[in-house]
Amino acid sequence: MTIADSAVYLKERALGEVARIMQGLAPGPDSAQRILFVVDEAAYAACGGDLLLEPVLRSGIVARFSGFELNPKIEDIERGVEQAREFDPDVVIALGGGTAIDLGKLIGALSRQRDSARDIVTGQASITRSGPPLLAIPTTAGTGSEATHFAVAYVDGEKYSVAHSTLLPNFAIVDPRLTYSLPARVTAATGLDAFCQAIESIWAVEATDESIGYAADAACYALQHLVRATNEPTPEARLGMCQAAHLAGKAINISKTTASHALSYPLTSRHNIPHGIAVAMTLSSMLAYNARVTAHDCVDPRGAKDVLRRIAMICELLNAATIDEACQTIDKLIADVGCPNSLAQAGIQSEEQLRHIVSSVNAQRMSNNPRVTNPESLLCILRENATGANLPSYPTPNIDKRSDS
Ligand SMILES: [Zn+2]
Repeated sequence: MTIADSAVYLKERALGEVARIMQGLAPGPDSAQRILFVVDEAAYAACGGDLLLEPVLRSGIVARFSGFELNPKIEDIERGVEQAREFDPDVVIALGGGTAIDLGKLIGALSRQRDSARDIVTGQASITRSGPPLLAIPTTAGTGSEATHFAVAYVDGEKYSVAHSTLLPNFAIVDPRLTYSLPARVTAATGLDAFCQAIESIWAVEATDESIGYAADAACYALQHLVRATNEPTPEARLGMCQAAHLAGKAINISKTTASHALSYPLTSRHNIPHGIAVAMTLSSMLAYNARVTAHDCVDPRGAKDVLRRIAMICELLNAATIDEACQTIDKLIADVGCPNSLAQAGIQSEEQLRHIVSSVNAQRMSNNPRVTNPESLLCILRENATGANLPSYPTPNIDKRSDS
């Protein structure tokens, strides 16, 4: 299977497509489908999807996998792989937030490998075969996991990312109605994740013209709809955030994420800050930092000028004339959805806490940031962020766009 093989249904009432998709996957007219249903039961009960899904499930033989912790843990993956090997599903349906969908990807695929789940997750062995077909049904508008070929897993508190083309769901069913019942804080945290993924994707070293197109559209949708979706949700705002999240997923499926994501994992694992909020807390600091990229510290082989062109594009999306203004717009968006926009606001300020964050950063993820970082520069960024000091004013990179055509 290649990355282009995913079928996407993103619209109001997209969930109604599941019955037809399942018919298309049926092994034969007389044999019942064996369905492994990886489900966040609380999200399933709250989102109202059962009305449409239960009849589909009743037509097959179903094994449910649930009761897992937030952020996929190896113990849950191993439990699911064992269940899937015994049950031998024809198809996997994953319903819930990013955790449920990442678990659906990993359990389906890893149950068909010769090597152990632990060896594959930790990079000691590789995926060599495809898993059963996977339908991903997100109930949040955030991670965009339904659009990516990787999955997160934690082993003994350490975070791993498993990447393989076979992990991309064959079907993404994105129905904004499933997000209608999300509380404001979850809408804010997951929506900020989508927004940050879009912004980071634009400046990422691995960004391409295609990923930048998705990311720019995703950022527009998030800027237009996130505050309303959080504070006074309308169907239009919910649909807008589903588009933002899905497009940001498509963007990072190509470009991957960068520094703010790398810095976020210790904030989540040690300080219990929800993923999207943890990422957002350093986004404006990283924008200010990356905007000062020069030929001497540029990681992107396309050069500092190209990075600055993309930083200017971000300023334009934010409708900002200067980097300072762009940073303020980002921080205001975060504040408008009721979240802390800095370490200072989250009360993470001690030197020991900042050093722990820096020491936990994954160097490989950091290498996708366009401007080089090292422990000293990261510590400086975090200290400034944690004192709540006003960010200094930086001029917008002034790039003549005509010279790039
Ligand atoms: Zn994220």
